[in-house]
Amino acid sequence: MMTSTTDLWKSGAALLLLSFAAACGSPTTEGMSNAQPVTDGGNATPVYEEDREGVGEGGSSTCAEPGATIPGFVLAENVCGPIRQTVCGSFTHAGKYSIDIAINYNTSVVSPAGGTVVTARSNIPDTCSYPNLDGRDALRLTGECPETGTDYGNYIAIAPDDPNLPSLYVAHLKEGGVDVVLGEHVTQGQVIGHSGSTGFSTASHLHFGCVTRGSESGTFPTAACSFTWRARDSNAVQTGQPEEGDTVCGLAAGG
Ligand SMILES: [Zn+2]
Repeated sequence: MMTSTTDLWKSGAALLLLSFAAACGSPTTEGMSNAQPVTDGGNATPVYEEDREGVGEGGSSTCAEPGATIPGFVLAENVCGPIRQTVCGSFTHAGKYSIDIAINYNTSVVSPAGGTVVTARSNIPDTCSYPNLDGRDALRLTGECPETGTDYGNYIAIAPDDPNLPSLYVAHLKEGGVDVVLGEHVTQGQVIGHSGSTGFSTASHLHFGCVTRGSESGTFPTAACSFTWRARDSNAVQTGQPEEGDTVCGLAAGG
C-alpha cells in the first residue's frame, strides 16, 4: 500500500528525472520506475546508496590528492548525466575516488581507457536493488539477492594498458549488463556494459571509481585518481573531480 508521501515523492522524482532527461537530450525515463524513495529527516530526497563497507574509513581528507587522471569517460559521446555523489562524498563515498552519475536504465557504458577486464559480475537480478541493509536482508531471505557480494550489484573492473593508471570499475549494472568477458582486451570508448540499479542503489545510476591495481575484487579498495569529462554547455574537456549537481557528458572515443 502506497502512502501519500510516497506518491508525492514519486511525482516529484518523475518531474526531476524528466528534467534531467530533457537536459541531456534523452527523452526516455525507462527504468526509472524502479526508483525507491528514501527519506531523510522528513525530506523526501532520492539517494543512491551502495558499498556500505568502507563508509567512514579513511575520511574525506584521504581524497585530497588527485592522483592519475583517467583519460576518458564512461559515457558515450553526447550522453550526459548529473553527478549525485562525488569523490569522498559523505554519504557512501568516504575515502573513495568514485563518482555516481544518474543515468537511465540500460544506458551504454564505455571503457574510459584501453585495458584488460580483470573482474566482472552480471548475475545479480534487477530485483536485487535495495536502499538499506534491512532491504538487502529481506531480499536475501526471498532468494532475490545472493548471500554475499551484492552491494555493488553487477560490475566490471578494467586494468588499463597504461601502467601508471589505477584499475577502473563501474558498478550497479543491470542484470546481464556486462558485455565483456574476463581477460578480454577492450579499447577506449568500447561499449562494455549497460547501466542499472543492482545492489545498494535506489535509482538507476552508475558508480565509477578507481581501485588499487592487483586488488580488484568485489570490495574494490580505493586508489587516487581524477576524472575526465565533457562540459555540457561549453563542450570543453574537463579533468579533476566534478561537483555534486554538475551534469557531465561523455567524450568521443579517444577524445
Ligand atoms: Zn557510488
